[in-house]
Amino acid sequence: MMSATDQDKRLHYLESMGIQVWAHRGPKSGQDRNRQAPVAEPGAVEDNSAATAGQDDIAGLEWEVLRERVLSCTRCDLHKQRTQAVFGVGNHSAQWLIIGEAPGADEDRQGEPFVGRAGKLLNNMLLAIGLRRAEVYIANIVKCRPPNNREPAPEEAQSCAPYLARQIALIKPKIIIALGRVAAQNLLKTDSPVGSLRGKRFYYEQSDIPIIVTYHPAYLLRSPQEKRKAWQDLLAAQELFSSL
Ligand code: SF4
Repeated sequence: MMSATDQDKRLHYLESMGIQVWAHRGPKSGQDRNRQAPVAEPGAVEDNSAATAGQDDIAGLEWEVLRERVLSCTRCDLHKQRTQAVFGVGNHSAQWLIIGEAPGADEDRQGEPFVGRAGKLLNNMLLAIGLRRAEVYIANIVKCRPPNNREPAPEEAQSCAPYLARQIALIKPKIIIALGRVAAQNLLKTDSPVGSLRGKRFYYEQSDIPIIVTYHPAYLLRSPQEKRKAWQDLLAAQELFSSL
């Protein structure tokens, strides 16, 4: 049970997400909270592999060597303009794995995913469901910044996929949150828009690790009216996690 202080903090984080009284309001007519998310059971999703890991030895690497491999990687052209590769950050035994799209300018400079405004919002989104950044693991579909913040090309995502697949294998998270279209589409091997992937439960490859899709914090900064939906997704993820 959440204490009054915890509740206050949570409301603060919610406010930073642009959600002011939602937590107190309760479902208006049962539409929001009670919306039943379609559930895809394990194995029901055709092919949602994040990456065909392991056409080489990446699938067998341990953390330190994996990190070194990423930091010196030249598997795709994104290495040419990066300041540094952004490996990922967080708890190697995290139960929650958060996956975004690609490093931006701040991340490229600092070598850490989700710093800057989007990172701050992500931190608050996590805190709103009681998670500190240090508890989770945060990674991206590609480890190097695409020039001019363009989306990673499919072949770039494909080249980088074995690294993320290895990170997932090492962490063995209980739940994965896919932030935004690029993360969702690459993890689920689909062209479907985020809007149609939200509210559903998928599974990572043939595992029993559920994937919940929500909006990318950078998108939420541009489209604050969607923060409420992201909050619904986080609540659904929290509820699902509690049942695991
Ligand atoms: Fe290597 Fe991934 Fe960077 Fe491409 S994006 S150079 S595959 S680490």
